[in-house]
Amino acid sequence: MTAGRFAPSPSGDLHVGNLRTALLAWLCARQSDREFLLRVEDLDRVRPGAEEGQLADLASLGLTWDGPVVRQSERARLYDAALASLAGRGLVYECFCTRREVLEAPSAPHAPPGSYPGTCRDLTEDERAQRRRERPAALRLRAGTATFTVEDAIHGTYEGAVDDVVLRRGDGAVAYNLAVVVDDAHQGVDQVVRADDLLSSAPRQAYLATLLGATPPTYVHVPLTLNVDGRRLAKRDGAVTYADLTAAGVDVLGAITSSLGLDRATPQELLSTFDLAAIPREPWVFVPPT
Ligand SMILES: [Zn+2]
Repeated sequence: MTAGRFAPSPSGDLHVGNLRTALLAWLCARQSDREFLLRVEDLDRVRPGAEEGQLADLASLGLTWDGPVVRQSERARLYDAALASLAGRGLVYECFCTRREVLEAPSAPHAPPGSYPGTCRDLTEDERAQRRRERPAALRLRAGTATFTVEDAIHGTYEGAVDDVVLRRGDGAVAYNLAVVVDDAHQGVDQVVRADDLLSSAPRQAYLATLLGATPPTYVHVPLTLNVDGRRLAKRDGAVTYADLTAAGVDVLGAITSSLGLDRATPQELLSTFDLAAIPREPWVFVPPT
């Protein structure tokens, strides 16, 4: 089985930019005869009722999905197994740094800001025992490369930084980078369509996939939706959700298809003519109705 997917966090309602990305993910999957899976990334930031609302909004747009909706909160066993596999090969180590220590530590040359500088990589057993008394350890990947290259249908061959990513946080929660890679591999997802603010995460996720014996997916990082100030669109920007826009008289599907240079049509109707290569490459600046 091959599949594409949409994987929202149930932290609130989807906004029109999220819905646009979902439509693009659906079109890319369906047009390439893939299944289209929905995965709820509910490891943190869960707002009660948000998942139901998100699924209803996707259905209102005319998007359909295959199989049951998968929730990350129900998959701890898979993440633990992946972590154990990496640990068994000496690819995991304890990190005791606070977020602030990571940000303030000098990075390796050419590493992007915020990259982990490897502070705890080679602590002695005595040092680790000492630090364990101070704070619970996060678990990090002992990465064997500083860069990795992925293929992206829009951005082409993209090389980006790989650092010792967190696999499990100090509070015991599975880190996003591990969960997303394990889920995609386990679900047969070989096409990842998402907003291009995640492009720089793709190399480290693809590298982690190879360590877990999976083939990295083909990526399609689509342009982000911005507000009038040029920042990532957010709910505080006004009427941006399906419900708010519909209440304001906006045809949400029409607004999205128009932003993609497409005629107003249902997702199903768009399938025969949709051309990923023809969508605008610049961000969509969304101006909420007043
Ligand atoms: Zn550390």
